[in-house]
Amino acid sequence: MRETIEFRVPAGHADMFLEPGLGTLLGDSVRKIVLPMDDPRVKFIADLDREFLKKGKAFFTYSHISRHYTRKELDTAEVLQLIIRPTFEPPGEMCGTKYDDAAACPHCGAGAPQLTDLHLDVPHIPKKKDLAVTIAGEIVVSARLTEALRKHGITGAEYRPVRHKTGKLAEEWRQLVVTSKPVDIVPPTRVGDDPFNLDQQGRHRCPRKHVAGLNRISELWLKQEGQDGSDWVRTRQLIGAWQGVLRPREQLLISPRLYRLLLTLKAKRFEIEVAHWTTPRPSSATARLQS
Ligand SMILES: [Zn+2]
Repeated sequence: MRETIEFRVPAGHADMFLEPGLGTLLGDSVRKIVLPMDDPRVKFIADLDREFLKKGKAFFTYSHISRHYTRKELDTAEVLQLIIRPTFEPPGEMCGTKYDDAAACPHCGAGAPQLTDLHLDVPHIPKKKDLAVTIAGEIVVSARLTEALRKHGITGAEYRPVRHKTGKLAEEWRQLVVTSKPVDIVPPTRVGDDPFNLDQQGRHRCPRKHVAGLNRISELWLKQEGQDGSDWVRTRQLIGAWQGVLRPREQLLISPRLYRLLLTLKAKRFEIEVAHWTTPRPSSATARLQS
């Protein structure tokens, strides 16, 4: 696995502190810089940011880590994180979907049950895709993909009706609701504000432990104990923040079997990261290793 990090740095900051040729200019005010995670300039930029923050200003305005895998790493992964890329709005709550906010955690907004079918502004769902997600994390699956998942006996989710704002059924879409037993996110997973600020003060963690933090910084490690063997996997802890209709969301994972099926079906459009089960090492294996 190869990790790269993208920074967006205001051009004024970049001109003053970074090499002139580093990165590319977006418009005339922001420099986009992509570096391998282990490049010494990453630490240099992180240190600059820390100095800037002491004066109440950030050095970069955005950072994002990308992970690049070999075919073999993907083929041998024991569990994979599914990242659905086409994102659209408005979210369900602005189209007539009702949530029971009275039942939500007052700190983080977690646990508000969806009381109605998912209502959406259906023409706003990206065209010719099989998977898409609203800015609030509601996931829709095409009828074509739903049928294939059912036919292949994929387990751990329900595919519920999606409705237009008018209440009319949207035949071409279903809502993906993962129903498998949630699994715990465990160390060495890192969650925090950004790669250089793991939120030591816990400003974005729920005191009742529903929300692990603002952003996922590393691959996910999950506790396998108690997992029910489903193809669709969800995490117990949520990641994100509660802002208006946006809510922290569970992380979505899939079995190798489901991954292969999505590839075979050419399902559009998703990205994959490798995730990891952690298991207590069986004593017999330990004994074998020691002998
Ligand atoms: Zn909470």
